[in-house]
Parts: sequence; structure tokens; C-alpha cells
Amino acid sequence: MTVTHEQRMQKKKAVIDNKIASAQQERGVLLINTGNGKGKSSAAFGVVARALGHGLEVGVVQFVKGRGDTGEQAFFRQQTNVAWHVGGEGFTWETQDKERDAKAAQAAWAVACGHLSNPDIGLVVLDEMTYAFKYGWLDLDTVIAKLLARPPMQHVIITGRTAPQALRDAADTVSDIGNEKHAFAAGVKAMPGLDW
Ligand code: ATP
Ligand code: MG
Repeated sequence: MTVTHEQRMQKKKAVIDNKIASAQQERGVLLINTGNGKGKSSAAFGVVARALGHGLEVGVVQFVKGRGDTGEQAFFRQQTNVAWHVGGEGFTWETQDKERDAKAAQAAWAVACGHLSNPDIGLVVLDEMTYAFKYGWLDLDTVIAKLLARPPMQHVIITGRTAPQALRDAADTVSDIGNEKHAFAAGVKAMPGLDW
């Protein structure tokens, strides 16, 4: 007997309906956007828009200050319900001052801790935080303990390349974004409105 398209779709719908029915928890989610491909921070800022649209309060902490004139900062700083902190002085190869980078990251973490203790904040974005572990600016176990002790309904998104395994293990959702190709490699400058 041949299986018709309609029968296949009915079966698929039953499987999906079952999965939806069994996902009953409502709680805060810890999400990591990592990998070498483009889209880690921009996906996180997309969720900021989504959260604000639902009336959530949002805290954004940028651990590495790339540039001070990004479109996301200009836009979201105008919104009510967003606390935006830029830490860091840039990458280490720019500042060449490990002590200062570590201090900036620890100051950013102090701001993050304030958000992670505040149940009124529904979404916390810790942008480029993974570098803090790579360079030893923050203690991973301390950070994970604080993340796991956050208010139960609070969502957290951490971005950055090479997220450490223990952080991935602690997360609920991990997106490893691969780099199939990037325009920069073909000589296209970082474009305002698309890349920053
Ligand atoms: P975006 O902010 O565009 O989502 P990202 O957060 O995934 O990027 P980062 O590692 O934070 O990536 O890099 C920030 C900047 O580098 C952005 O301008 C981004 O477009 C660019 N970039 C991201 N991935 C790559 C890549 N694979 N090759 C070259 N440039 C990249
Ligand atoms: Mg990024």
C-alpha cells in the first residue's frame, strides 16, 4: 500500500503534537550562541526585541567593547526597559594590557551579577562573555554557579566563540553557528546596519 502525502503529514503532525503536549515546563532558559559563523550577537539582539515586545525588562552587558557606535546600541539605548552596559576596552591585542582587560571584564561581571539577582529582569544578554574565560578574566565555576542560581523565570543568552564545555553543559539551549562563508573573507568591509 502506498503512503500518501496526506498520511505522511498526519503522522508527522501527531508526532509534533505529542512533543508540544509533553513540553509543559515554564521557566527561564540559559542559551549559548557560539561557533565561528556570523549571527551570535545579532541573534541575541533579535531576542532583545522579542522580549521588549512582550514587556520584559532586559539587561545587556557587552564584555568586549569592539566599537561604541553600533546600530544595536544606538537603537536599544533609546528604548525604555533596557539597561545597556559596555565593558572592556577592546580586544587584548589592541589594549595589550591584561590587567586592565581583566578589571573591565570583572566590572562588567559585577553589572551582570546585579541583573542575575533581579527577578524583575526577564532577559539578560552577556555578549562576548566567552572571551573572559579564554583569557582567564573570570572564574568559570563562579559564573556557572551564579547563572544557575538566577531567578527561575529569567532567560540568559551568552554569546562568543569557543564556549567552554562546562558552560555548554550548564545551558539549556546551545547553538553552534558554523561559518560556511563570510563576505569579509572576500574583501567586503564590516557594513553598518548589517555587521554593526
Ligand atoms: P554578529 O554580531 O554579526 O551576529 P557574531 O556575534 O556572530 O556576529 P563576532 O565573533 O562577535 O560574531 O564578530 C563580530 C563581527 O565580526 C561582526 O561584524 C561580524 O559580522 C563579523 N564576523 C562574524 N563572523 C565572522 C566570520 N566568520 N568571518 C569574518 N567576520 C565575521
Ligand atoms: Mg558577537
